[in-house]
Amino acid sequence: MLKARKCVREMREYHSPLSSTATNLRLDMNESTTGCSPRVLAKLHSMDAKALALYPRRESGEKLVADSLGIPAAQVLLTNGADEGIDLLCRAYLEPENEIVVVVPTFTMYEVFAQMENAKVVRVPTGPEFSFPTQRVIDSLSGNTRLIVICNPNNPTGTAVARSSIMKVIEAAPDAAVLLDEAYFDFSGQTMMEQIGKLPNLFIARTFSKAYGLAGMRLGILAGDQEQMSVLRRMASPFNVNAFAIECLAEALADRQFVAAYVSQVQTSREWLRRELEQLGFKCWPSQANFILCRFGEEKKAMLEALRARGIALRDRPDCEGCVRISIGTQQEMERLLTELKQVLYQLPAAKAAR
Ligand code: PMP
Repeated sequence: MLKARKCVREMREYHSPLSSTATNLRLDMNESTTGCSPRVLAKLHSMDAKALALYPRRESGEKLVADSLGIPAAQVLLTNGADEGIDLLCRAYLEPENEIVVVVPTFTMYEVFAQMENAKVVRVPTGPEFSFPTQRVIDSLSGNTRLIVICNPNNPTGTAVARSSIMKVIEAAPDAAVLLDEAYFDFSGQTMMEQIGKLPNLFIARTFSKAYGLAGMRLGILAGDQEQMSVLRRMASPFNVNAFAIECLAEALADRQFVAAYVSQVQTSREWLRRELEQLGFKCWPSQANFILCRFGEEKKAMLEALRARGIALRDRPDCEGCVRISIGTQQEMERLLTELKQVLYQLPAAKAAR
């Protein structure tokens, strides 16, 4: 009988909890609710049959991205979303029984890809208020550690990791790859990109899925030391990134104004929502990303269901006691969320009392 590899058979099934079609305000995937730059859309519409008939060539896109990052093209790989970059690192550095260190709660896909390699996942819990546990991460390293993931700002908490902490981890683990996941960099502005090429074990993942509003395009970046990147390049399919994404990349990068305006709008409505939620008595954590983590408490399930019945999807985070993650939309969308939430609380007196 045909059998998948043991580690694959034993994997927990992971379904991204995609919002149902009945949802008309989708705040559970950290997507942009306003969409991409009109310049990207115009480029997309201008593509002809010939452009689609040909296999895509990634190199031109890599040069553009590298120039925009101020690093050589040899240090950049375009990926099929940041997800592919994570997968490539797991496949490249994790032998069976090697260890990957993740700080939890965090983005789930690190574990999914690591399990596919039969690696051992070492989970280090965050410190008070979801702070990055620098010393405990360093203490968790062993002779078998080959990959350490630092998500900055972290999903789902929105918390930032201090540069000094990241440096300490990198220095403590010269034989391990350190993946700095900067998927939400555009919202935080904090990066270590200038260290790429200087620190041979540092990799940085970025994505066009968030601030650029292109999650459906599947376009990401993996940056790292040139020698290491040449190894990863051997593993990736030469056609991992589709022709639409490569064609639109120049416009996406050029329309800086669009991204800046969107980021600023998100930051404003995020802080507004946080203040409002706190006034209602819900604890929220300061976020550097396009979402916030909020504690709904014991009635969380009922509240999520009631909101969903009203067309609004938030993300349950069972790994953060009583919490939900709320993606930030426009001011108007956040006002709608708040209005509906107040009505839900009115109908669920237990939820009101539980706070
Ligand atoms: N890293 C983090 C921290 C994320 O939150 C996400 C998406 N939610 C990704 C990576 C994957 O992004 P992409 O759509 O580029 O695959």
